[in-house]
Amino acid sequence: MALNKRRFDALIIGAGGAGLNAAVQFANTNARVAVVSKVFPTRSHTVAAQGGVNAALANVMPDNWHWHMFDTVKGSDYLGDQDSIEYMCREAIPTVYELEHNGVPFSRLDNGKIYQRAFGGQSQNFGGAQAARTCAAADRTGHAILHSLYQQNVRARTHFFDEYFAIDLIRDNEGAILGALVLEIETGEPLLIEAKATVLATGGCGQVFRTTSNAHINTGDGMAMALRAGVPLMDMEFYQFHPTGIAGKGMLITEGVRGEGGYLINKDGERFMERYAPNAKDLASRDVVSRAIVTEVKEGRGCGPNGDHVLLKLDHLGEEIIQKRLPGIRESGKIFAGVDAAVEPLPVFPTAHYIMGGIPTDRYGRVIVPHGSGEEVVPGLYAAGEAACVSVHGANRLGGNSLLDILVFGRAAGLHVLDNMEEHHRPMNEDSVDQAMQSLQRWDRKGDGLSVRELRDEFRKTMEDHAGVFRTEEIMSEGVEKIKALRKKMDDVVLTDHSKVFNTARIEALELQNLMDCGIALAASALARKESRGAHSRPDYPDRNDAEWMKHSLYYLEGDRIDFKPVQTKPLTVDSFPPKERVY
Ligand SMILES: Cc1cc2nc3c(=O)[nH]c(=O)nc-3n(C[C@H](O)[C@H](O)[C@H](O)COP(=O)(O)OP(=O)(O)OC[C@H]3O[C@@H](n4cnc5c(N)ncnc54)[C@H](O)[C@@H]3O)c2cc1C
Repeated sequence: MALNKRRFDALIIGAGGAGLNAAVQFANTNARVAVVSKVFPTRSHTVAAQGGVNAALANVMPDNWHWHMFDTVKGSDYLGDQDSIEYMCREAIPTVYELEHNGVPFSRLDNGKIYQRAFGGQSQNFGGAQAARTCAAADRTGHAILHSLYQQNVRARTHFFDEYFAIDLIRDNEGAILGALVLEIETGEPLLIEAKATVLATGGCGQVFRTTSNAHINTGDGMAMALRAGVPLMDMEFYQFHPTGIAGKGMLITEGVRGEGGYLINKDGERFMERYAPNAKDLASRDVVSRAIVTEVKEGRGCGPNGDHVLLKLDHLGEEIIQKRLPGIRESGKIFAGVDAAVEPLPVFPTAHYIMGGIPTDRYGRVIVPHGSGEEVVPGLYAAGEAACVSVHGANRLGGNSLLDILVFGRAAGLHVLDNMEEHHRPMNEDSVDQAMQSLQRWDRKGDGLSVRELRDEFRKTMEDHAGVFRTEEIMSEGVEKIKALRKKMDDVVLTDHSKVFNTARIEALELQNLMDCGIALAASALARKESRGAHSRPDYPDRNDAEWMKHSLYYLEGDRIDFKPVQTKPLTVDSFPPKERVY
């Protein structure tokens, strides 16, 4: 079969905030950039971000980027790389102003400045009083950002391949990345895209869990593509469960609700966060609040007929504030819980939300892998956004820091590609076509009849049961074995009869395989880490253990191997923040 081929200077896979902010850097240059997205760009998950993006603008309360940096390092439970964190917190300020100039309609204060709300883990003066650092466009910040970035890209004549699915990276025999094999979803027509540099900006993998705030499209495709190309995934055990998903459903209720003055209560009406985090209370870091909710429910203080959730109270804020600052939340409550949050409290429970780990990169977006006793760059490959792990979030991400991460490092990756284009040029060859043909075999499956849906449901439930908020050796080892067995069953999924199978079903099968690779990376890394840190909580190893575990984990697909690498504790220009006990 002859394969169609296109050639670009840069190929960006993913049209969320990370991909679009990388692509827009090519505006007003002669470079040709292609953006591939499996959904129409403005349907990327970034559109769903509610609460806002952090930057120490000091519009509402005193603030500076150094405090933001401290909070991020502490929030990461000291596992974040301090050079990247410093870079991100400094860049936050110009990044938000750039968004403003690109047309993002931020909410405003009476004096005309950008509105900022309080979010969890934010402090003044290195751990002092609550700060207000999250810049918001009501509770639809991601929507505003993504639409503005899309418009800027249309103006810049970025070449979009909408509803194309990327299957695999193509590499040469020295491991350099030459581009990718993609497929037009409607026709099933494959296409090889050759590029001097390829950026993976494919977002997270929240669909590995049954109850999640993530969209159906968040299936970890880029992370799995990297794994198949021999790149390890870093810190995959650190998965964030957001404290307030709609109970039983998982849709997100932004932390902005608590930032505006909402709080959690148990069945006795007790404001229980006061017991778990006496200072920060409901605005403690997300991992802390999620564990508190699960503990309340486990100890019999849950609400509802089954005692399986807690309540988020915001009706006392008054209808006017709710309508002005949290209109989307009121709507979600009505649709998904049948509750008007202006009248009654919302039933909530932790929901799978965000992967701190991902494809290891440096702060220019270059993918970095261990080599001998040091590290090396994978030529031609970049990653940015939730798919990447530049390690600004370490073991736990602070709310409002992900939109920031995707924008800052999406931009950095775009600029680095642009500045180093010539260095990367390696053309595709015959072998590239062979690789593509090999990958295409997964499109036509020849098993003996398992359904994708059944297998997916079983897998996602297994992940929830065995790699959730609290994890023990026994639960996790059993989980890893079960997931490996499910992964084997992938071979039995059948999709060969072209007359009956829709392309969307084939895509679901490819996505499930990607999910399973991410799932096993997550579970195997979690089993390996014998300490509690940030979002990784092990009742059998309840303490953080800096002496042995102050290191990043690396999971390799080949042989399900785990390795480790040191944490970068040295910032770029300021003094480092040494590990301390993390209390809120
Ligand atoms: C409900 C919700 C609310 C949130 N609220 C906030 C918030 O208020 N503040 C904050 O900081 N963070 C928030 N987050 C987190 C943040 O929104 C995400 O981490 C971030 O938007 C991810 O951006 P991204 O560009 O990396 O990926 P995404 O926006 O997820 O985009 C991924 C892109 O990759 C494409 N893609 C994926 N796989 C393929 C493939 N195989 N082939 C082709 N294309 C592919 C998709 O089509 C899409 O265009 C929220 C997350 C959720 C789920």
